[in-house]
Amino acid sequence: MTDAVFAGGSASPGQSTTVGIVVNPVDGTVLDSFPLASAGDVDAAVRAAARALPEWSALPPVERSSALLRLATRLQERAAEYALVETRQAGKPIRLTTGFDIPGSIDNVAFFAGAARNLDGKAATEWDGDHTSVIRREPVGVVGSIAPWNYPLQMAMWKILPAVAAGNTIVLKPAEITPLTSLMLAEDCAAAGIPAGVVNVVVGTGPEAGEALISHPDVAMVSFTGSTGVGKRVMQLATESVKRVHLELGGKAPFVVFDDADLEAAVHGAVAGSLINTGQDCTAATRAYVQRPLYDAFIAGVADLFTGIRLGDTEDPDTDLGPLVSRRQAERVAGFVERARRDGARVLAGGRAPGGDLAAGAFYEPTVVVDAAQDSEIVRDEVFGPVLAVLPFDSDDDGLRLANDTVYGLAASAWTTDIFRGLRAQREIRAGTVWINDHIPIVSEMPHGGFGQSGFGKDMSTYSFDEYTHIKHVSLDVTGQARKPWHRTIFTEPT
Ligand code: NAD
Repeated sequence: MTDAVFAGGSASPGQSTTVGIVVNPVDGTVLDSFPLASAGDVDAAVRAAARALPEWSALPPVERSSALLRLATRLQERAAEYALVETRQAGKPIRLTTGFDIPGSIDNVAFFAGAARNLDGKAATEWDGDHTSVIRREPVGVVGSIAPWNYPLQMAMWKILPAVAAGNTIVLKPAEITPLTSLMLAEDCAAAGIPAGVVNVVVGTGPEAGEALISHPDVAMVSFTGSTGVGKRVMQLATESVKRVHLELGGKAPFVVFDDADLEAAVHGAVAGSLINTGQDCTAATRAYVQRPLYDAFIAGVADLFTGIRLGDTEDPDTDLGPLVSRRQAERVAGFVERARRDGARVLAGGRAPGGDLAAGAFYEPTVVVDAAQDSEIVRDEVFGPVLAVLPFDSDDDGLRLANDTVYGLAASAWTTDIFRGLRAQREIRAGTVWINDHIPIVSEMPHGGFGQSGFGKDMSTYSFDEYTHIKHVSLDVTGQARKPWHRTIFTEPT
């Protein structure tokens, strides 16, 4: 039975009366069930993080960096184990976890080991001639982080790494349905010599453990990745104690195909970009806008490739697509498609849960929806499943207007062979990431974060240090004068 708490360097059972159940969505097998963390467990974890803060934040950056390098080595040694656990708890094909989730996470650790030694600021100088100005970047304190279930290990990494690299300590609450790799990570942080209390994990529900963490008086900052609805609640709770807030929220990424695009590239890009992680990716392509001359060929090409995607056993390396994370999520996706159908949209491929051997799992077939209205639910709201809505457009102005016609702004792509169309699209589309002729690839060196209701602040890259550090201006008098010229504002001269 899993211990729901890893705090102050050791694991312990959760004290909540609520039981957490971890299920393999490929067939509904229960992997584990255990008591979750209570508000009291959260309090103990925050206190452990507060105790560890003075020593960890005072370490020379090179020592924090060395600890992260040891962690990277340890994760590399256990990569296959992490991949299997991630595959089972989240229903991800093993090809995805071994090729993307786990190596991506290890690369993040290696990146932040280097970045820990590279905090930047302006050069020290005497801006007014009389004082030397120095910029310090100081850790914010104890960070309370809350992560979603779609990329359990990667999301834990995106929260933990910039925080601890910059000298903060952290209490992470992973999603209670996919907690296993976050708990493994906490143990590996300890095994790598990261001091007790620097990285703490509490597995509990949002309303019980999550809200206790956000509201805790000793938590200086809240970093949240999840849905926009819960993000609003997080922000409300954080206002009580004026905590710093970093929100990575939902997305509804547009995929704009101009009529000069390479059709084969756009079709393959749309299939991979919408189906990655069974569509449970905040940056996944969800709304394809295709200029009228390419529209028919595009929808036919995507529908054809969608029907060839192999759903199945997530531990088989030949499986292309796994189930949704849970039955509940599969039913939610099915509900979106049913309502779209009812409102007059057509389903060109998929549109149902497969039967046969897959009936016990949370599967849903890759689905192409056409003829949905721009203001319909399936085009405006986050489905978070293997569903791509495709709509035509006429002028370039229309395509870019439709791409921006959303409350979200996390990611987007534009497809064209005309450099000037590409340059226009990257400038005019409002999103934290814009790809030209691709959709999905990310790198540790570059920031990830949203505009609009996709939130604010950045994960990954050295830009993330802007979230996890306070900037302090230190001003040092260089004149040695007892009576300074600016005192004239108070004293009449001469005194
Ligand atoms: P969710 O908002 O339901 O849950 C996210 C986390 O918040 C979970 O750990 C959950 O337990 C916790 N939570 C729920 N209610 C809470 C409350 N009242 N107080 C505190 N914590 C609470 O999201 P999800 O369903 O786990 O994940 C999918 C969502 O995450 C999608 O909207 C997706 O777009 C988003 N997401 C965004 C990014 C990004 O970088 N912007 C990355 C991954 C996922």
